[in-house]
Amino acid sequence: MIQVVLSQPEKIEIREVPKPSPAAGQVLLKIKRIGICGSDIHAYYGKHPYIKCPIVQGHEFSAEVAELGPDVTQFQVGDRVTVRPQLTCGRCYQCLHGDYHICDELKVIGCQAEGAAQEFLAVPQDLVVKLPDSIDYDYGAMVEPLAVGVHAAGRLSELKGRKVLILGAGTIGNLTAQAVKALGANSVMIADISDVRLEIARKCGIDFTVNNARADLASEIRKTYGESKADAIIECVGAGQTINQAITLARKGSEIIVVGVFGEKPSVDVGLIQDRELRVIGSLMYKKEDYETAIDLIKSGKVHLQPLISQRFSLIQYAEAYKYIEQNREKTMKVLIEV
Ligand SMILES: [Zn+2]
Ligand SMILES: [Zn+2]
Repeated sequence: MIQVVLSQPEKIEIREVPKPSPAAGQVLLKIKRIGICGSDIHAYYGKHPYIKCPIVQGHEFSAEVAELGPDVTQFQVGDRVTVRPQLTCGRCYQCLHGDYHICDELKVIGCQAEGAAQEFLAVPQDLVVKLPDSIDYDYGAMVEPLAVGVHAAGRLSELKGRKVLILGAGTIGNLTAQAVKALGANSVMIADISDVRLEIARKCGIDFTVNNARADLASEIRKTYGESKADAIIECVGAGQTINQAITLARKGSEIIVVGVFGEKPSVDVGLIQDRELRVIGSLMYKKEDYETAIDLIKSGKVHLQPLISQRFSLIQYAEAYKYIEQNREKTMKVLIEV
């Protein structure tokens, strides 16, 4: 079978390797679609703090069950599925208390363990999640990033009736905004510096969009929400500028959820967090139930994924896909690999 390896930064090798066979408790998957995301791009340029080369990438994907290992009873050959790409130890404090997504020894498939950028991949059966008939392979590969948004929404102490500001309208910002709204927020405002991304957010039904390269975000918040401003802010960029914006713009006593992954260590005014009693809360990946909620939201049509699909490439065009993203940074959302 064909396997795509990021052998060193900016170097992609297409290899011919033997097709794996599923061990006990594993399911062999025929990969169908892979989504390329921000962390893949950081890794491609050798700038991801936790991803080292060589690596077979691909952590957002959909697949068809091709073969069952011994002891696998929950699946059948031909099932259409997606995968929650979290390999966990099962022994650390968090694993023993239901927070396996922040396992001390967490390995993400496609980041620290072999991923889906190949024709077949064997994975433990408890990470495999069936797709309903109404969710195609494209959308199946987007359950993962949507689950990130669902989990972030769940980190808010209260969602129903709230006014939420999202910083960043890339794929994760967009899907977080959609999840927050679908799960009960009163209204969602999203800010970004790209008109293309904001236009996509509008197509997805986000209530208010602000281009904060042109408009002053503080006054836009006041115009829309009045002096009480937003009830919560979700940072989905992972940059010093946006986390500082969140801290500065937050209403006293309100919440900030940090979803963005920070490549560099920003300088942050912690004094404001103390003085204004802000609650700054991290959000990492998702749990099994976030996957289930994400699938429900897609199935019920409460989120819109089509506007996010920017471009498609075949498995052997992985390098071209990265080139495309580099050349179309401002307007690229989700690039899908068709296997
Ligand atoms: Zn991702
Ligand atoms: Zn653990």
